[in-house]
Amino acid sequence: MSDRVDLVVVGAGAAGLMAAIWAGRSGARPIVLDGARVLGAKILVSGGSRCNVTHDVVDERAFAGSTTPAIRRVLRRFDVGRTVAFFADLGVELKREDTGKLFPVTDDAHTVLDALLKAARDAGAEIRHPWRVASVERREDMFLLNGPAGEIVARRLILATGGKSVPRSGSDGAGLAIARALGHSVTPRLVPALVGLTLAEGSFVRALSGLSTDATIDVRSGTGKRLHTMTGSTLCTHFGLSGPAPMDVSRHWQVARAEDPGVQLVVRWLPDATAESLDAALQALGGDTPLRLLSRDLPARLARALCDEAAVDAMTPGHVLTREHRRALVRAVLDTPLPVTGTRGWNHAEATAGGIPLAEVRLDSMESRLASDLFLCGEMLDVDGRIGGYNFQWAWSSGYVAGRGAAGDRAAVLTAEGHASDVVD
Ligand SMILES: Cc1cc2nc3c(=O)[nH]c(=O)nc-3n(C[C@H](O)[C@H](O)[C@H](O)COP(=O)(O)OP(=O)(O)OC[C@H]3O[C@@H](n4cnc5c(N)ncnc54)[C@H](O)[C@@H]3O)c2cc1C
Repeated sequence: MSDRVDLVVVGAGAAGLMAAIWAGRSGARPIVLDGARVLGAKILVSGGSRCNVTHDVVDERAFAGSTTPAIRRVLRRFDVGRTVAFFADLGVELKREDTGKLFPVTDDAHTVLDALLKAARDAGAEIRHPWRVASVERREDMFLLNGPAGEIVARRLILATGGKSVPRSGSDGAGLAIARALGHSVTPRLVPALVGLTLAEGSFVRALSGLSTDATIDVRSGTGKRLHTMTGSTLCTHFGLSGPAPMDVSRHWQVARAEDPGVQLVVRWLPDATAESLDAALQALGGDTPLRLLSRDLPARLARALCDEAAVDAMTPGHVLTREHRRALVRAVLDTPLPVTGTRGWNHAEATAGGIPLAEVRLDSMESRLASDLFLCGEMLDVDGRIGGYNFQWAWSSGYVAGRGAAGDRAAVLTAEGHASDVVD
């Protein structure tokens, strides 16, 4: 005998718990299924175990994947202000750090997970785990869910199974296959996002392992056109590049590379310099050395390595530098493509670029346009944000809309202008 229930949420991550809370608060009694033995793996590891819950300014331009207006419509429904108030109401006070990232004042991700689990139960949700969903079939107007733990028949279904990043957390892409079986498509590009970039073995960057500096990273087409630029902290590691700027750029490099094998990654180690300003500074060195000049704004090890890359003796007095020397130095510091061989892959990625196109869901409820009574939210959709709390904000916003939508909450319907018109909360 299979259980027959009104609403099932598959996935008890950030988006699934949010959906369960708001479905429950809107009158439904959801059953939440999760394949994991220990719940909330990603919340617990996030933000260095402190959970970067959101950012004080969440702009849709910090996201990629589906169209910006579509992403904005969902984010507006449950924005940063509501997120902060929602967590405060659960007893989780957030603090803003200088970077604009918001963390719980406890600096402990458990605070966030525990509050969400309690809120879900308080709202009437029942969480069953480990309950791995192996398949979902449509049976007339019901969904038949199957897995090693048994069978459940549900009238409405919310899929919140995440993407493919860190598959050992339980989010291994199986949910995308389930959505496909129910009629959805998945973008042809599905790549690890927010992930370190690997460089060829001989790259000087790998020898600088442990060094960190602010740099500008360009993704350039084979013809040299700048496709994407990111400035921020850049970490040299034993495998290549990591830290916020390279990780933010990683999805853009892969997507561009898939279409243009000539795509290049160029690090501008002095973000504020131009070729002209650097050349002028080198010309003005007099008896001073390029090493001293570059070390003013860069770690000395990096300054020396860049001189080596330019094949210029770092201790050459400025007045001895030839025009070719100066050109080589400017190129090494501002314009040399790095030999990127790939990324560190799904096991190290913090997010997924690609997924189910937002065009396949109704943005006022996250209900599938292809299968009625099916709702989708979170990382499984084709939306990925930059480092800084944006991916969780997507989970909170889309989970909220899906939960309200699946509970059939009329108050959650958008007005014609696209503004939220929630009257109950
Ligand atoms: C190391 C790391 C650090 C991060 N730090 C941050 C951060 O500080 N700030 C930020 O904004 N974002 C961060 N992220 C990204 C963020 O964690 C994710 O974008 C977010 O958790 C996605 O939420 P989700 O609910 O959509 O998916 P998930 O959190 O992946 O949850 C999906 C759930 O579904 C379950 N599931 C999957 N398939 C099945 C199935 N077939 N049957 C049953 N259950 C299933 C999984 O077990 C899982 O519990 C980080 C990610 C990583 C990996």
